[in-house]
Amino acid sequence: MRVGILAIGTELLMGQTVNTNASYLSRELSEMGISVFYHYTVGDNPGRIQLHLNALLEQCDTVFTTGGLGPTLDDITKEVVANTLGLNVILDQHSLERIKERFGLFNKIMPESNIRQAYFPEGAVILDNDCGTAPACIITVKDTDKNIVVLPGPPKEMKHIFEKYIRSFLLEKNQQAMYSKYLSIYDLGESSVEDALMDLVINQTNPTIATYAGDGKVLLRITSSGLVKEMNEIAVEDMVAIVKSRIGSHVISENGDDIDKVILRKLIEKSLKIAFVESCTGGLLSYSLIKNPGSSDVIDSALVTYSNESKMREVGVRSETLQTYGAVSHQTCHEMVAGLAAKTGVDFAVSVTGVAGPTGGTREKPVGLVYIGIYDGGEILTFENHFTGDRETIQRRTVLKALKLLYDRLGSETN
Ligand code: ATP
Repeated sequence: MRVGILAIGTELLMGQTVNTNASYLSRELSEMGISVFYHYTVGDNPGRIQLHLNALLEQCDTVFTTGGLGPTLDDITKEVVANTLGLNVILDQHSLERIKERFGLFNKIMPESNIRQAYFPEGAVILDNDCGTAPACIITVKDTDKNIVVLPGPPKEMKHIFEKYIRSFLLEKNQQAMYSKYLSIYDLGESSVEDALMDLVINQTNPTIATYAGDGKVLLRITSSGLVKEMNEIAVEDMVAIVKSRIGSHVISENGDDIDKVILRKLIEKSLKIAFVESCTGGLLSYSLIKNPGSSDVIDSALVTYSNESKMREVGVRSETLQTYGAVSHQTCHEMVAGLAAKTGVDFAVSVTGVAGPTGGTREKPVGLVYIGIYDGGEILTFENHFTGDRETIQRRTVLKALKLLYDRLGSETN
C-alpha cells in the first residue's frame, strides 16, 4: 500500500507548530510495513489543498489529511475533499448530537459555528472523536479502492482516532499479516550499525529494516508482511540471524527492551544481588536500574563516594593507592569494587571513577577518562574508557558502557 500524508494548516507553514502528526503517522505506518511516499504541507487555502490532494490521489492508494476540521471558516478540509471528488457535504445527525452532548458535559451550549463539524462528504464513514469535537472520516474514491482518511489536527485527537479505527482499517485493507521484531543495539552508534548492515538496508524489500537512534540505543525494526503469517515469521527470523551474525554481541534484546530492564530481568531470574559504588556518575548508574520496578529484589546498595575520604571510609580504598595512583586509576577502581563486594557480600558489584569535566583534566588524566570495575563472584575486572562530550554526555556514556559491561558478564539473553 502506498500512502501520502497531507498536513493542512497555515500555522505549520509559519513554523508555529511542528508537524508531529506527519512523523507520528509515518512511524506508525512504516511499523505496519506500509510505505509512506509523500509528506505535503499546505496552508488553509482551498486551491492548494485541492492541488496536492489530487497529486497524492494519483500516486497513492490511501491519502491521510490532518487538520482543518475545526468550527471556524478557515477549517475547510472536508469541503475541499468533497469538491475534489465531486461530492456534496451532508449533515450527520449522530455527529451533531455528540458534539452538542460534548458541550453539555461542560455546561455549555454548542455555538452555531460548530455545526460545520457535523457535515461530511456524502458516503463518508464517520469516526467518532472521543477526545474532541471534530469527528474524522474515511471516504472511498468512487470506482476505485483508493481512500482519503480525514483526521483532526490536534495530535491527541489524531492519535486517538488512528489507534481506535485506522490501524484495523488499514490492516483489513492491506489484507496482509505482519510480523516484526525490534532489536535493541548498544555500544555501537547508528552509523556503525548502518555500515554493518548497509547491503541489507539498501536491498530491503520484504522484510523491511529501519533504524531509530536515541538515548544511547539503536533500535532496529525488522518487519515482514505477506499473506501467510508463518512465512513472515520465518523471513524475520532469518533476517535477525543475519543481523546477529554481524553485530550479535551488541544486540541485547529482540523485543525492543532497554538494557537496564534486560539486566534487571537477568538479575531477578538468577536471584543475584548487586551493589554500586560511583564517583563521577553520582548515582546515575544505580538509578538506571533503581528507576525500574522490581529493583528492590536485587539491589543491595548504591553508594556515591565522591571524595577521597569517602572512598577510604566507605569502601576501604587505601590512602597509599590514592596517593600513588590517584582517584581516577585502575587501582582505585579495583579497590572500590573489591571493598564494596567485601562489605556487602553481593554477587555482583560495579565501581565507577573518572573525570567528567569540564575542569579537573590533566595531560595524563584528561576529561573523559573513566574507569569501570566489575566484581563478578570472585573475579574483578577494571576497564579504562575515554569518552568525549560535555559533563552530562560523559556521565551518560559511562552509565551505558557500565551497563553493557555488566550485561556481558551476566551472559547474553538473545544468543
Ligand atoms: P480543531 O477542531 O481544534 O480546530 P482542526 O482539526 O481544525 O482542530 P487545526 O485547527 O488545523 O485542526 O489545528 C488544531 C491544532 O492542532 C493546532 O493549533 C496545532 O497545534 C495542532 N496541529 C494541527 N496540525 C498539526 C500537525 N500536522 N502536527 C502537529 N500538530 C498539529
